[in-house]
Amino acid sequence: MKKTPPLLQLLVRNVSFEGLPVVGELTAADLDLPSDERQSCPEPFRLEARASLVSEGVLLQGTVSGQMRCRCDRCLQYYTQECAAIPVCHDYPPPLGETVDLTEGVRDDILLAFPQRLLCSPECRGLCPDCGQNLNVRECACGGGDTGSPVWGALDALQLPEAEGKPVPTASGRRRKGPVRRRS
Ligand SMILES: [Zn+2]
Ligand SMILES: [Zn+2]
Repeated sequence: MKKTPPLLQLLVRNVSFEGLPVVGELTAADLDLPSDERQSCPEPFRLEARASLVSEGVLLQGTVSGQMRCRCDRCLQYYTQECAAIPVCHDYPPPLGETVDLTEGVRDDILLAFPQRLLCSPECRGLCPDCGQNLNVRECACGGGDTGSPVWGALDALQLPEAEGKPVPTASGRRRKGPVRRRS
């Protein structure tokens, strides 16, 4: 098991009814947050919370803020997603030991705030399905983009091997690659 960061290792004898501030920075490693090409948390999160005695248990309340590095699902560009003031609220009922480990609760709150769909902007136009040009930057020269769902742009950008070897002539006389045709 990972070692709990000291900030999240709450000494119960220090907690009063007035509350004990639990404030500090936590890295993705401290919280064992998932990290991959699509989504990662290179900067630490800031926890601003307070632990109070409630009857025999402990209540942790506050917020955690930070940012994520995300890769847009449509245009595959990286962008920073701000995660401001994610609510933190956890109740630790008795019997309590000498310490309470707050890691899992804070981790779960952050995970809930992870977006399922990553978009650099709701209006992101994605990549041209034919030539891969990022259509947020400029129109592409091939004239094939911006016709269908941008989701296909991201898929086509993966450069799957051509299923049908023959180039397909387009109306303008230029050549398209084979797999694109299957979409229509
Ligand atoms: Zn995008
Ligand atoms: Zn294009």
